[in-house]
Amino acid sequence: MNYPLTLMHILERAGMLYGSVEIVSRMPDKSLHRYTYADFYRRARSLAKALQKAGLKRGDRVGTLMWNHYVHLESYFGIPAAGGVIHTLNLRLHPDEIAYIANHAGDRFLIVDDVLLPLLQKFRDQLRVEKIIVVSLTGQPVPEGMEEYESFIAEPAEDFVYPELEEEDAAGMCYTSGTTGRPKGVVYSHRALVLHSFATALGDVLGISRRDVVVPVVPMFHVNAWGLPFTCTMVGTKQVFPGPHLDPASLLDLFEKERVTITAGVPTIWLGILQMLEKNPGKWDLVPGMRMMVGGSAAPESMIRAFDRHNLRVVHGWGMTETTPVGTLGILKPHMEEWPEEKQYEYRAKQGLPLPFVEVRIATEDGFAPHDGKTMGELQVRGPWIAADYYNRPDSRDSFTEDGWFRTGDVATIDPEGFVKITDRTKDLIKSGGEWISSVDLENALMGHPAVAEAAVIAVPHPKWQERPLAVVVLKEGAQATEEELIQFLAPKFAKWWLPDGVVFVEEIPRTSAGKFLKAKLREQFKDWVKE
Ligand code: ADP
Repeated sequence: MNYPLTLMHILERAGMLYGSVEIVSRMPDKSLHRYTYADFYRRARSLAKALQKAGLKRGDRVGTLMWNHYVHLESYFGIPAAGGVIHTLNLRLHPDEIAYIANHAGDRFLIVDDVLLPLLQKFRDQLRVEKIIVVSLTGQPVPEGMEEYESFIAEPAEDFVYPELEEEDAAGMCYTSGTTGRPKGVVYSHRALVLHSFATALGDVLGISRRDVVVPVVPMFHVNAWGLPFTCTMVGTKQVFPGPHLDPASLLDLFEKERVTITAGVPTIWLGILQMLEKNPGKWDLVPGMRMMVGGSAAPESMIRAFDRHNLRVVHGWGMTETTPVGTLGILKPHMEEWPEEKQYEYRAKQGLPLPFVEVRIATEDGFAPHDGKTMGELQVRGPWIAADYYNRPDSRDSFTEDGWFRTGDVATIDPEGFVKITDRTKDLIKSGGEWISSVDLENALMGHPAVAEAAVIAVPHPKWQERPLAVVVLKEGAQATEEELIQFLAPKFAKWWLPDGVVFVEEIPRTSAGKFLKAKLREQFKDWVKE
C-alpha cells in the first residue's frame, strides 16, 4: 500500500493505545505538572482545530518560544496535525537574532511561555507574526492583544478532521545557531521525522521502549530535542520535561524522583552533573545503568569513564540540525565487549556507527578516504532525514555536493569497524605547518587530568607555523595545576608538534546558545597571544 508516513499516525496511536501513560513537566515554580497521553492527545487535537479556525493553512509556520514541557509537546503534534509547521525558536539567542529567524521563516503565529514574555518584549516590535498565544505557566495575566493558550484550545476536538497531507509535507523547522554567518533554516518533512523516530528507537541506537522513562535535557528548541518527543510518543514512553530548571541539582532530583532510565544533552550539562555527584557522594539514588545520550560536541573519554564509576552509562552520538539530528551512535558491537577495557573506551569515545539509511563518506583532496581510522577529511552524509537544502538560502548551495550529499563541515575518520570519529570542525582545526592538529583530541585528553574541569584548545596565529594550538583551561574548584604539568600530562599521548604552545587558565569558557564551547570568541580573545 502507498501509506503516508505522517506524525498524525503517531498522535492517533498514542491517543488510542497509551492513554494512561504519564507525561510529567517541571513548572517554573518547581512543582510537577502531571497528566496522561489521553490528555495530551485531546489537547493536541484541540490545538490543531483552533489553529485551523484561526486561519492556519497547510505549510504555514507557527513559532514556539518555550521551555521543555507538556504544552511544547502538544505543539510538536498539534501544529503539524493542523497542516502547519512547528518552528522552534532558540530562546538563548540574541533578541534581534530571534526576530530575524522568525521573520525569515515567515512565522504567522507564535506560542510563547509567559515566563518568556520579558524576552519577547525585547523584539516584539520587529516581529511580523499575526497572533501571539501565551502559555500561562505562572498564572499572571496575559498582556493585551495576545491570546491565552487555554482559552485558545478550549473547544473540544472530537469532530476534528485532519487535513489531507502528503508525507513530504513540511512538519517542522529549525535554524542552525549560526556560529558563522546568518542562521540557516532546515525544514523537516513528516516522512523525515517518522523515519528518524523509527531509527532512533532501535535497540542499538537510543533503544527506547515503553518501559523507559525519558528526560530530554536538550532543549525542545534545539533540533527537536534530538527527536525524543517524537520517538517517545511513537513508542508510548513516559516523558519527563525539566522546564526551565537545568541546573545539576534540579536535574538529579528529577532523575531520582521519576526513576529516569534515559536522558540526553550536551557534554557541558553532564560535566556539571558529574561534579555535583562527586561533591555529594550517595546523595542521589538513580536507576542503576541510567543511559545518558551525549552529543552536540565530543564526549571526553574521561567523562565516559567517570560516569561508569557511578554506574551511569554514557552513550555518545553525533548529529546536526541538518541531520534531524541523529546521524551516528556509538553502541559497541557485541564482539567489542570482549576487547581490553582501554580499547572499549577508545571506541565508546568515537561518535559511532551511522544509523540505518544514513550513508557516510570522507572526502579528501585525493578522493574518498579508505576506512582506515586514520585518513582525515570532510564528513559527507546523505539519507532520508538529511537536509537537501536550506530554507530560502540560494547562497548556501555549496553545502551540498554535486552528487547530492550534504557537506557537514566536520572533519572525521572512519575505521575498519565503520565507526566514525569526529576530529574537528573545519573551522576549529589547527593547521600547523601544513599539517592538521585535532583540537578535540587535545581537549579530551586535558579533561582527563584530575585538576581540569573544562578545556578548549584553539588555534593562535604563528609567524612560522601559520597556526599553533593554545589550551584554555578551567580548573576544578580548589584544584591546582601548572602549564608545565599539563603539557607533561599530554606529552606521552601525542606527537611532540601536537602539544599546545601554552596553557592559559580562565574562570570560564564562553558558550554558544546550545551550551557548546564558543571557540570563535576564544580565538578572538587570544589572537595576540604569544609564547613568552
Ligand atoms: P551549531 O552549528 O549551532 O553547533 P548544531 O547543533 O547543528 O549546530 O551542531 C552540529 C555540530 O556539532 C556538528 O557539525 C559537529 O561539529 C558538532 N557535534 C555534534 N555532535 C558531536 C559529537 N558527538 N562530537 C563532536 N562534535 C559533535
